[in-house]
Amino acid sequence: MTTVDSELGFDPDELRAKYAHERDKRLRLRPEGAAQYRQIEGSLAHFLDDPYTPRTEREPVTDHVEVAILGGGFGGLLVGSRLRTAGVEDLRIVEAGGGFGGVWYWNRYPGAACDTEAYIYLPLLEETGYIPTEKYVKAPEILEHVNRIADKFDLHRNALLHTRVTDVAYDEGAALWTVRTDRGDTFTARYVVMTVGAMVKPKLPGLAGIEKFRGHTFHTTRWDYAYTGGSSKGGMTGLNDKRVGIIGTGSTGIQAVPHLGRDSGHLFVFQRTPSAVNVRNNRPTDPEWAASLQPGWQRERMDNFGTFVAGGAAETDLVNDGWTALYRLRSVNNGVLDEIDDFRKMEEIRARVSDTVSDPATAEALKPWFRALCKRPCFHDEYLETFNRPTVTLVDTEGRGVDEVTENGVVVAGVEYELDCLIFASGFSVAAPFRSRLGYDVTGRDGLLLSEKNKGGMSTLYGMQSHGFPNFFIVAVNQVGGSSNFAHILDVQSRHIADLVAEARRRGSRTIEAEKQAEDAWVDVVVESSQADLEFQRSCTPGWMNNEGQPNVIARRNGQYGPGIVAFDRLIEGWRADGEYRGVVFSDAGTS
Ligand code: NAP
Repeated sequence: MTTVDSELGFDPDELRAKYAHERDKRLRLRPEGAAQYRQIEGSLAHFLDDPYTPRTEREPVTDHVEVAILGGGFGGLLVGSRLRTAGVEDLRIVEAGGGFGGVWYWNRYPGAACDTEAYIYLPLLEETGYIPTEKYVKAPEILEHVNRIADKFDLHRNALLHTRVTDVAYDEGAALWTVRTDRGDTFTARYVVMTVGAMVKPKLPGLAGIEKFRGHTFHTTRWDYAYTGGSSKGGMTGLNDKRVGIIGTGSTGIQAVPHLGRDSGHLFVFQRTPSAVNVRNNRPTDPEWAASLQPGWQRERMDNFGTFVAGGAAETDLVNDGWTALYRLRSVNNGVLDEIDDFRKMEEIRARVSDTVSDPATAEALKPWFRALCKRPCFHDEYLETFNRPTVTLVDTEGRGVDEVTENGVVVAGVEYELDCLIFASGFSVAAPFRSRLGYDVTGRDGLLLSEKNKGGMSTLYGMQSHGFPNFFIVAVNQVGGSSNFAHILDVQSRHIADLVAEARRRGSRTIEAEKQAEDAWVDVVVESSQADLEFQRSCTPGWMNNEGQPNVIARRNGQYGPGIVAFDRLIEGWRADGEYRGVVFSDAGTS
C-alpha cells in the first residue's frame, strides 16, 4: 500500500522499490553487461571513417624526438603546453584524427555542447587570454579553442595527424622508446606520454542486422553533414523529407534530438532508459564579470567546483549550476547524496517532464527512475519540448532496447519502423582495457606488456607512472582524483608530468621510473577510498558509469582516489614540493 508522506509528497519505500525494479528489469534483459555492445570493426569498420578531414599521403618518419605524446585531445594538448612552458622544445603529438581536439574533433553532431561550465572546462584560459562567450559553450567554440592552444604552444609543429599508433616498445640498452604507426613511421623517443581518452572508442548497440540496413547510417561521433546538410548549429535541410531514427538518449542523444526534431520529416527516438534532464539555463558571458577576473581565477574556480564534486563545501559556490546543486546535496560523510534529498531532486525532474510534455503517456515514458548520480545527469532546455512536435515520436522500449535492425529500419516489440536514416547515439567503450580502446599495446622492460600487467587491475603510482615502464607516463582517469570536470583531471596530470620530465632533465637522468612498493601502496589507497562509490554503483541502473551494472574488483581497483581531484592535486603537489620524489627512481646518465 502506498503511504505518501504528506510533508515529502512521495513514499520513499515506493520509490526505493520502483528504482530497484527498473534496475533489475534492465539487468535481467541484458545480463551480458558491457559485452552486449558491438565493437566497430570488420564489416562495421566504415563507422570509424573520418568525415571531417581528407587524409593526405605523406612519407613515413624515422627520426628521434625527446617526448612523444600519443593522442592530441585535451590531455595531449595540456601535457604538450606544460612541457613547452617547462622548456621542452623537441616534442611530437601523434593523433588518429585529422586535427587536434579528441572528443571535440569527433563530436560535431548538431547541438553538441559542453554541459560543464566553460570557464572551468576549457583548458588554459588564462594562458591563452580567452574568455568563452557563454557559460556553456557549443562544440565549434571548443574546437576553436583547441587550435588556439595548439597555436599558442606551437603544438602542430612536428605533429603526425591521421596517424594511429600500432606499437610502443622500450629498448633497455638505449633507454629509448620506439613508436610505430599505421603510416609506416618508426621513430624513437626518450619519453612517451600515452593519453587514453575515456570517450575515445565509439560503440554500437548489440543488435543483429546493422550491416543489412539499406538506408543511411552513422554514429554521432562521425556526423555525415554531406547527407544531412547544415552544421553543428542545425539547418539540416537534407533531412526535411526523411524518416530519421536515433538510438540512444544519453547526453549525446539529448543534445542532438532537438535539432533532429526540428529538421527531420519525421523523427523516431528509440529509448531504452530515459535520462534525467535537468534545467540548463545557459547565458552569455557578462563582460564586466570577465574584466573583473584576477590572475589565478581559473584554477580557483576549478578547485571550487572540484570541492563540491567531492562532497566538500566552500563558502561560495562560484559555478553555482545544476551540477553543484546536485553536489551540494551530497552528504560529506559517505560521499553520496542523502537518499531523501536525492528522491526530492528526482521528483522535481519528473515533475518537469509532466509540466513540459503534453501527451501524458509520452511524459510518463520519459520519466527517469534511478538516483540522481546513477547515470550521467543531463541538462537541456529544449529536449523535452521536442516531444510536443507532431513530427516526433518517442518509441519507448521499456528497458528492452531495440530488438534488431532490418533492411528497412528497426524493430521494437515486433513492430518495424521504416527509416531513411538511422543514427547511433550509443556511446563509447569506456571501461574497456587500454589496448582495446587505443588499438596498441606497450612493451616495457623485459618484454612486459602493459596489457598483461593491467590484467587483474591497474598498478600505478598516482595513476601516471608504472613500474617496468621507465620514462613512460599515462594520462587516463584511473587511479587519480576524480571529477565530473575531466579537464580538471587532465590539468592536474599535465602539471605533474611536466614537472617530472623537467626534474629528470634537471638531474640529467637517463630514466625515471616508479618503484614497485610505492605503486602497491598507492593502489591500496585507491582501492580503500573507492569503496563507498562501489557500493553506490551496485545499487544503480546499468550504464557506462557502473560498467553496465557489473561493477567488480577490477572496476574498483581501476577506480578513482575517493577524496577527489582537489585533494589529489594537493597530495601530489606536496609530494613534488620537497624535491625528494619518494617512490620514484631517477637513474644517473651513466647507469641503466
Ligand atoms: P551513453 O551515455 O553511453 O548513452 C548511450 C545510449 O544508448 C543510452 O541511452 C543507452 O541506453 C542507449 N542504448 C544502448 N543500447 C541500446 C539498445 N539496444 N536500444 C536502445 N538504446 C540503446 O553515450 P553518450 O550519450 O554518447 O554519452 C557518453 C558520455 O559522453 C556522457 O555520459 C558524457 O560523459 C559524455 N558527453 C558529454 C557531453 C557534454 O555535454 N559534456 C555531451 C555528450 C556526451 P541505456 O541508458 O539503457 O543503456
